[in-house]
Amino acid sequence: MTFVTRFAPSPTGPLHLGHAYSALLACDMATSHEGSFLLRIEDIDRARSRPQWETRIFDDLHWLGITWPTPVMRQSLRLDVYEHALETLWNNGLLYPCTCNRRDIAAAVGAPQEGAPLLGPDGIIYPGTCRKKSDRTGPMPRTVPLRLDMVAAVDRTVDLFGKSAGFQEDGVGPEGETGWITFSGQEMIETIGDVVLSRRDMGTSYHLSVVLDDAEQGVSHVVRGQDLFEATRIHILLQSLLGLTSPVYHHHKLIRDDTGKRLAKRDDARAIAKYRAEGQSPADIRAMVGLCHR
Ligand code: GLU
Ligand code: ZN
Repeated sequence: MTFVTRFAPSPTGPLHLGHAYSALLACDMATSHEGSFLLRIEDIDRARSRPQWETRIFDDLHWLGITWPTPVMRQSLRLDVYEHALETLWNNGLLYPCTCNRRDIAAAVGAPQEGAPLLGPDGIIYPGTCRKKSDRTGPMPRTVPLRLDMVAAVDRTVDLFGKSAGFQEDGVGPEGETGWITFSGQEMIETIGDVVLSRRDMGTSYHLSVVLDDAEQGVSHVVRGQDLFEATRIHILLQSLLGLTSPVYHHHKLIRDDTGKRLAKRDDARAIAKYRAEGQSPADIRAMVGLCHR
């Protein structure tokens, strides 16, 4: 199997140590497997994406010694592809419109029962307020958020979930998960719920775009942070619903600051630009994130 991996930054802030680690690791893996490393710009969040950030990300990556084929894939140019996939899901009765805001959801959830899981990969698990009352007939609405009906989706993928679904983890999840990771449909319903697949003002969502783009780019190995490990089950389900092949996943450790906190985009203290300005070399960056010299 040819090895194809990618780095998929969102141009919403500076590249920091955590991104550099992810990109360098993916690039190293592509080199050692004699495969390819691709870049993709995840700019569906039009309100937060900035061309200046994109320019700086390219510049930092080049400085780190990373190269990639051009033109790069850009999510903002693929909205028709996302819409087409949403139509497919809509026509199969798997989506419903929902305009509940955070407040509505928090109110509907009320006091959590003891021991009941409350948080999924996307935050509070949606209580299903609009699931029954939304109209699913007629053409797909384009200006409201659309949720995936998880019960219906699991039902539609009985083949996959009949023997419990799974994915190949070649890296390691946050709890040390590795190898063939299995999960059941019931688990998807209880611990993930009806995720939003088309967000307001985006016409898509991270989950939907990422599976369609990885498939389009022929990605065989997804290298990314452990923070996305839980979301992988959503991606496997979507791949199954949309008839796409699932890649192998390689989740990696997260780079933390001195207090053990995960680095965030706004964490300018760890921006690669700052290390560059201070005179550190790409080899210094590699050493900082625990990658050997190349
Ligand atoms: N754009 C995503 C991020 O910045 C990458 C998601 C992925 O690698 O699947 O976290
Ligand atoms: Zn709703």
